Amino acid sequence: MLGAIIGDVAGSYYEVLEVKHLKEYKTSRPYEERIKILDRNVPLFDDFSTYTDDTVLTCAIYDAIKNGNCDYKKYLKEYGLRELELGKDNFNRARFGKGFVKWLTSDNIGISYGNGAAMRISPVGYLFNDLTTVQMETVKATIPSHNNVEAITGAMAVSTAIFLLRNNKSKEEVINYLKEDFYDLEYNLEELQRNNRFSSRSSESVPVALYVFSISTGFEDAIRKAISVGGDSDTIACIVGSLAEACYGVDENLKEEVKKYLNDDIINLLNSYYGEKEWKK
Ligand SMILES: [Mg+2]
Repeated sequence: MLGAIIGDVAGSYYEVLEVKHLKEYKTSRPYEERIKILDRNVPLFDDFSTYTDDTVLTCAIYDAIKNGNCDYKKYLKEYGLRELELGKDNFNRARFGKGFVKWLTSDNIGISYGNGAAMRISPVGYLFNDLTTVQMETVKATIPSHNNVEAITGAMAVSTAIFLLRNNKSKEEVINYLKEDFYDLEYNLEELQRNNRFSSRSSESVPVALYVFSISTGFEDAIRKAISVGGDSDTIACIVGSLAEACYGVDENLKEEVKKYLNDDIINLLNSYYGEKEWKK
């Protein structure tokens, strides 16, 4: 969860650069720009970095499990509507995509195939203690807004991988499982850094995130590699961070740094999972 939030905040600034470049030049951000983040001297967080919808909805899922009898729809709506009232974010962007806003403000059943389901699912992988329950709760947490097989598959791959990593399966075992049951993960890092295009479609960005995790060597390395492939950077880094936490744990320095970007409600929620001593602002 915290890994997901660190990925989201770190990726937020870079996602803005990706979208800006795409709008201005009709091409993806250049390879040379994208890979600068691999240099550990380049800060992961910028003054303008911010938590985004990935963090808000991850918190909603966590809260629904801990305090809301797994009423995911109720908590997603409550968290979403509360956030919507805050208006534009640090980058003058809407806080949620148009489709999600429509779902939040209507009684429609959501049928999105977007990666919004996978980006918010990590608490399910962390909080339930057998695989069948993890997978059943993944479906329950996904279908209110993403009643779509593509979105459910993406979320299921992420929560399943987190559960297996938490239960002492090695990264290699988990990747093999994902390759057999979910996606082939046939990518090449440099090719992605050169050519990966912005996509919020689950079947296009979730496997990229899983691949990046598969070639990571540590938590920070995973986040930096995730941002280096461009595209929907906050969400890819969020998903990668959620897996990297289960595999490597979260680096203490990043845990401290990310606090600056979180509000008290988020900090309090995280305290209930990680312990107050560690998580006082
Ligand atoms: Mg986001």
